[in-house]
Amino acid sequence: MRTLRTQVAVVGAGPAGLYLSHELRAHGVDSVVVERCSREHLERRVRAGLLEEGTVRLLRGSGLADRLDRQGLVHDGFQLRFDDTVQRISTTSLIGEPTYIYGQQEVVKDLLAARPPDDGSLHFDARDVQIAGITGDHPSVAFTADGEQVVVEADFIAGCDGHHGVSRASIPTASLVVHSRRYPFDWIGLLVGAAPFASELVYSVHARGFALASMRTPEVSRLYLQTDARDEQSDWPHERIWDELWQRLYVEEGRRTRGAVLEQVRVPLRATVAEPMQFGRLFLVGDAAHIFPPTAAKGLNVALEDASVLAHALIGWFRRGEAGPLEGYSAARLPAVWRAQDFSAWLTWLFHPAADATAFDHRRRTASLTRLAEAGSSAVAFADEYVGRSRRRPPARSYVHELDGMEA
Ligand SMILES: Cc1cc2nc3c(=O)[nH]c(=O)nc-3n(C[C@H](O)[C@H](O)[C@H](O)COP(=O)(O)OP(=O)(O)OC[C@H]3O[C@@H](n4cnc5c(N)ncnc54)[C@H](O)[C@@H]3O)c2cc1C
Repeated sequence: MRTLRTQVAVVGAGPAGLYLSHELRAHGVDSVVVERCSREHLERRVRAGLLEEGTVRLLRGSGLADRLDRQGLVHDGFQLRFDDTVQRISTTSLIGEPTYIYGQQEVVKDLLAARPPDDGSLHFDARDVQIAGITGDHPSVAFTADGEQVVVEADFIAGCDGHHGVSRASIPTASLVVHSRRYPFDWIGLLVGAAPFASELVYSVHARGFALASMRTPEVSRLYLQTDARDEQSDWPHERIWDELWQRLYVEEGRRTRGAVLEQVRVPLRATVAEPMQFGRLFLVGDAAHIFPPTAAKGLNVALEDASVLAHALIGWFRRGEAGPLEGYSAARLPAVWRAQDFSAWLTWLFHPAADATAFDHRRRTASLTRLAEAGSSAVAFADEYVGRSRRRPPARSYVHELDGMEA
């Protein structure tokens, strides 16, 4: 058995774990990262693609955005299609902030490339990862690699191992509440080797269901289609997927071209928030603590925010002996997590017609979408949530407190 000693053991080398470890090292705090998969797998895993301005600023501030600034696509807005009309919502015009298209696997590649090569602080292909001692002062992470048992002893553990990892499951059930919502929809996602459908994202709300035409690069498109959560895979042969995409995206007959399908995924629309996001010396970060339906593209953005807040709390502990930010990590993050959850839920219900939707429901949805497409206060509030600016603002003063004060 081999024993390693570090200040922070990070479980999971997704964007959250790698970013946390990067920030810690930049401020002189040691960490060891333990990852279940191979490096090649992480660098190829296509998931998120839309980055908020705040995320890009975070990456720039950490010296991680050179390639993003060269290759990322800056989007001033997006198209909203409904009832045979095409509207454009420009977040840059509305609130001065664009969004960026840059694949999650590219963020991961940049984070891996920024690490010193072979310094022994990153362990891929870890098997039987187990967490112990989180209620004491000496927590540890044990795993097997190349047949050898390794134990990482640390002062703290950061659980960055996604929704199916071991970190959340290591917290006693009596000390954790996991709030979950399964939406009655799934998405089928196609990664297609063809130029994007339009120069910006297209969100299309059709009586037949929702469709999203997104992209990863100027040569690769990402197309999503709402399906019923009860559908079987066999209900959706390629022929039907393309046909539905064209109809829901309002593509005219003569322009209905396909591209080579590079990957097909099924994405269940669900949400989870674990409260609190810490227990003893274990802190949950990113998807380990919360997942969002992909409609509003919040998962990666909120995960990196968590990692940044935890990094600075840990740096405060190790460099200045501050306990407050670390003790307050969960309380600091949960309002932002719920804010993103609320927007994601609202957008999911707005964009996805239910199977039993009536004409009344369709008319009401059209009224809501029309309000968004008008450059009024609804559009500004929407843009604020869409680009995540609302989460970066300090909480507003409460109107109720002001009234209380007046009564006293
Ligand atoms: C189809 C799809 C589209 C999406 N689109 C967007 C988008 O446009 N914008 C956005 O912001 N978000 C999006 N998301 C969500 C986003 O991908 C996630 O929120 C993001 O990956 C969270 O990062 P993370 O580091 O917290 O977790 P993960 O990326 O899940 O990383 C966790 C890591 O931990 C490792 N691990 C798991 N178990 C163990 C274990 N026991 N021991 C060691 N390691 C372990 C995993 O292999 C993985 O590398 C999308 C998600 C999907 C599925």
